Amino acid sequence: MIEAPFPELDELLTLIGEAGHRLSEIEASEGAAGNISVYAGWPVDPRRRFPLVESVELPLTVPELAGATFLVTGSGRRLREIIQDPAANLGCLVIEEGGQSGLLYTSPRRLFSHLTSEFNSHLAVHHDQVLTSHTNFHTVIHAQPPYLTFLSHIPRYQDTTYLNRHILRWQPELIVQLPEGVGYIPFLLPGSPLLMEATVAALHQHRILVWGKHGVIARSDVSVKRASDRIEYAETGARYEVMNLETNELGEGLRPDEIKAICKAFNVEQNIF
Ligand SMILES: [Zn+2]
Repeated sequence: MIEAPFPELDELLTLIGEAGHRLSEIEASEGAAGNISVYAGWPVDPRRRFPLVESVELPLTVPELAGATFLVTGSGRRLREIIQDPAANLGCLVIEEGGQSGLLYTSPRRLFSHLTSEFNSHLAVHHDQVLTSHTNFHTVIHAQPPYLTFLSHIPRYQDTTYLNRHILRWQPELIVQLPEGVGYIPFLLPGSPLLMEATVAALHQHRILVWGKHGVIARSDVSVKRASDRIEYAETGARYEVMNLETNELGEGLRPDEIKAICKAFNVEQNIF
């Protein structure tokens, strides 16, 4: 939830561009991998930046979101290039009455034909979070950070508890930034209804998930940067973990008692350690 005065459309576009750029810097978005969407629950006039309009069918029916505005990356667009020309890389979708269709506003410089193919998962997560928390702002980011994704190929890391006890032990701030830990869901077909359903359910408990053998999805109801920071923190923990595997596990990591002491000092509630 964010308080008035609400960010202007241009501020949101810039923040999405900066998050995409940072995800690219940490190598979490090779080629056209990754996608970002932002929900704004206040009136936004998209027409100066996005003067073209068409009606599009939504991947799921969301009547409760009628009138809501979404900024969404276009299919095949590169996260690192959004910052150069956000309007060319993003569409602005306003949900119509009944929630079966939306008005998609785009720029004459538009570089895509459709919104991201992962928009079904994004929209389902936004819908679920808005209905349960009544937030007026929500962002969802999918990226493919290599160390977290690599760990998801190793069977023993395909378990939420094991994964978190190993990746969150390398820096004191990891448990502070990720107190609910990173959720894990096994490989499911990208863009599929099964992946969408599993993602919605797991994001009730977590604010970032590993999609096994694929990448991650993170959400925030505070800012776009907060969601990309979560990906960066989790990826940093995974990077240490991979370094440790490569050095025959010479590293000790913070012990559970040390992590519990950090949680006590910083009032962090967690049930991982
Ligand atoms: Zn992907």
